[in-house]
Amino acid sequence: MRKKIVAGNWKCNTNLQEGIELAGAVNNLVANEAANDVVVVLGVPFIHLTKVVETVDTNRIGVSAQNCAAEPKGAFTGEVSAEMVKSTGAQYVILGHSERREYYGETSEVLNKKLALALENGLTPIYCCGEPLEVREAEAQNEFVKKQLEETIFNLPVDEFKKLVIAYEPIWAIGTGKTASSEQAQEIHAYIRSIIAEKFGDEVAEETSILYGGSCKPSNAKELFANKDVDGGLIGGASLKAEDFLGIIKGF
Ligand code: PEP
Repeated sequence: MRKKIVAGNWKCNTNLQEGIELAGAVNNLVANEAANDVVVVLGVPFIHLTKVVETVDTNRIGVSAQNCAAEPKGAFTGEVSAEMVKSTGAQYVILGHSERREYYGETSEVLNKKLALALENGLTPIYCCGEPLEVREAEAQNEFVKKQLEETIFNLPVDEFKKLVIAYEPIWAIGTGKTASSEQAQEIHAYIRSIIAEKFGDEVAEETSILYGGSCKPSNAKELFANKDVDGGLIGGASLKAEDFLGIIKGF
């Protein structure tokens, strides 16, 4: 059985005190109200990692960075390495988010370095993929996503690939309030699973969790998660309110 996962991506939001408060609120709600079989992850700013790890029950809630450096260490001012992330007690790192690709020029080449370092340091990458609006309008989303995967995670040895979580996030649905319909989500998730099966075999494809991201909220989570190939969500805006985040977790 593959894992059901709901991961929050706080992005560049919350100061440290607000972050600790939010993590504490999520921790309490999850402890009391979330189903045990849903893996909950909080993707927080780097400077929050240590405190959030101290605040939550890390046996119940995973903590994630939102990025890591493409180099292991050295003269890279302002960068935070995968080893540093791991040393805080965080277990995950979000890689390849469309905002990083678009605003910080993250190419497949850079992502391959980050993926390798994350895996070497025992972090679980939550690898994001997804197409922009013009690609969706041209109905070329499958080819677009396939290329993203072929240039990056499909080059990993199977034992490394098996450690990943994938997040499909159509760029046109991120932070826009516009969600992919349940059918659109299922269709492309099934496609992603089919190309994983072609590359790594049916068993690996069946075990890979593929999350949906893009304006997921308590009101649409249930319908999205009911799809057989949607294994949870990567949640931006709605992860900034503990009750909304719990509402999404309860979508399972
Ligand atoms: C995201 O950025 O990963 C995301 C899914 O954002 P939102 O939920 O706000 O659309």
